[in-house]
Amino acid sequence: MNIVLFGPPGSGKGTQAENLAKEYNLLKVSTGDLLREEISSKSKLGEEIDKKISKGFLVSDNILNNLIENILKKNNSFKGLVFDGYPRTLNQLKILEILIKKYNQKISFVFSLNVDKNTIIKRILGRESCSNCGLIFNEFFNPSNTKSHSCDPKFLTKRTDDNEQTILKRIETYKKETLPVLKYYKNQSLLHEIDGVGDISHIYKQIRSIINTLEAWLYNVYLYK
Ligand code: AMP
Repeated sequence: MNIVLFGPPGSGKGTQAENLAKEYNLLKVSTGDLLREEISSKSKLGEEIDKKISKGFLVSDNILNNLIENILKKNNSFKGLVFDGYPRTLNQLKILEILIKKYNQKISFVFSLNVDKNTIIKRILGRESCSNCGLIFNEFFNPSNTKSHSCDPKFLTKRTDDNEQTILKRIETYKKETLPVLKYYKNQSLLHEIDGVGDISHIYKQIRSIINTLEAWLYNVYLYK
């Protein structure tokens, strides 16, 4: 089972991808995380990527397509992939379709998390993640506290691209470059729109209910065929 998650920056894709990965034993493929890892390695490629990300621009399709092919060709032990932040352009979509066929895979579900602009801005400005355990928090909506997080608060860090200047650019890029990709999946009847405002566990329940209902339906169709 391969899943694609869409949503503007700050819509909660990363958190929901994490939930899906855990429950369905999927490998979470967050292109943002992979690119940030490359930046941390201080490589020449990382420097190039950093220049784009810090201004709120997309990184070149070639870099992304290579990253994704390297993941798909690995014969890993997971039951599938959950894409968080890919494909983000029509060109990436075209390449993903080619790779999916080449590696005998298919996209089973596509979810779009819908969140209004004011909530996005508040979420992004409050977002912080733990560099020790990887958990994501929000100082306004979901603060780290002794109940929810056992690491020292000194590990909580903010992303360099989570600032007011880049947010608007990232939202604009999402509308211009990524909404056409969503339209493609809608025409394929793969898209499920989810209200991404509200409690994290409530949003996740909506996603898993769609997956479980459709999986059960498909199972019955095959059983009685
Ligand atoms: P994210 O962590 O998904 O919010 O991504 C952070 C930044 O990484 C984006 O604003 C882009 O600059 C870059 N990025 C992540 N995924 C992609 C992608 N599929 N294509 C191009 N750039 C990407």
